[in-house]
Amino acid sequence: MNEKNEQKKLDLPDSIDYVLLDEATIKAQVRQMAEEISADYEGIHNEDFLLIGVLKGSFIFLADLSRRLTVPHRVDFIALSSYADKAETTGAVRMIMDTRADVAGRHILIVEDILDTGYTLKYLYRLFDARQPASLRTAVLLTKPDRREVDVPIDYLGFEIPNVWVVGYGLDYADRFRTLPYIAALKPRVYS
Ligand code: 5GP
Ligand code: MG
Repeated sequence: MNEKNEQKKLDLPDSIDYVLLDEATIKAQVRQMAEEISADYEGIHNEDFLLIGVLKGSFIFLADLSRRLTVPHRVDFIALSSYADKAETTGAVRMIMDTRADVAGRHILIVEDILDTGYTLKYLYRLFDARQPASLRTAVLLTKPDRREVDVPIDYLGFEIPNVWVVGYGLDYADRFRTLPYIAALKPRVYS
């Protein structure tokens, strides 16, 4: 390891194992996703296009993505919980806060941080689909394909990652590490 990398490693919080995606890598990919989405929704009206961010994990991804879009759009949020304060899935999804905006007749883009088993996105997809949107698509920053239990369509994807618990760029462990500018693997001893 050269000196610069050595220094970087020393700067990491103690619970972080290694950096999976650095700031520049995330930025470039989010920019590309925004370009693709902007092209697909070209000509759309402001009132018709609604990004729905899934709190809390997607708040930074949504902020960066929406600011890169060149098409007019609105932003709303929904809050769900499928995990307690630990890195374990129950498969049970609970709604904590619904969107404020009407979904009916609008073009909806669900913005989610990470797809693991798929239950959360599947739940959201069904929920919004039942509200008769003009169209329904998904933008997902990260996916762990090895963990998938239910099928759910991803229209815009950031990165495929291995089966490790990741934090940073909005993602947490027990509500910590969300504001790290990179996406990193947590040391297994922290969550096991
Ligand atoms: P799923 O329902 O697909 O199993 O889980 C999706 C949700 O689990 C995500 O929205 C996220 O809140 C959480 N999740 C899954 N894997 C990770 C991870 O590696 N890190 C963090 N911070 N959250 C995760
Ligand atoms: Mg989430």
